[in-house]
Amino acid sequence: MLLEGSCHCGAVRFRVMSPHPYPFNRCYCSICRKTAGGGGYAVNLSGEADSLVVHGAEHTSIYQAEIDGRTSPGERHFCARCASALWVFDPRWPELVHPFASAIDSELPIPPERVHLMLESKPDWVEIESRERDRCFAGYPDESIAEWHARLGLDEE
Ligand SMILES: [Zn+2]
Ligand SMILES: [Zn+2]
Repeated sequence: MLLEGSCHCGAVRFRVMSPHPYPFNRCYCSICRKTAGGGGYAVNLSGEADSLVVHGAEHTSIYQAEIDGRTSPGERHFCARCASALWVFDPRWPELVHPFASAIDSELPIPPERVHLMLESKPDWVEIESRERDRCFAGYPDESIAEWHARLGLDEE
């Protein structure tokens, strides 16, 4: 599926191919929450990095968080004009790019079950809206975004 996204002010537009477009993955880590997740979490998608096309890249900036006293290699790309969080790229997984569902303009499919992860970083005021089939993790689940789609038979080409 082709995902098309943009920042709020329109200075940055991007598109990326994703065989795994279901927005099921809710991250409650403090970085996602503070930079991208007003409701207490951000929804991370997965796309193919070599298909990423960006218009207005000169308006983007990169934030690399400090984790345990070290600068994370994960690059959080955002619009320097309007502050919209756009995607995460991590050179440790160079074939992947992780757009935030909040930046996507394409209509996304509704996930039949969701994952709530990094709950150890969740503040008390953030209540998990959990449905019956949802799964919760204190940290990261072992199952990747691609594996989640494969298990549910939701792979797309
Ligand atoms: Zn913008
Ligand atoms: Zn996160």
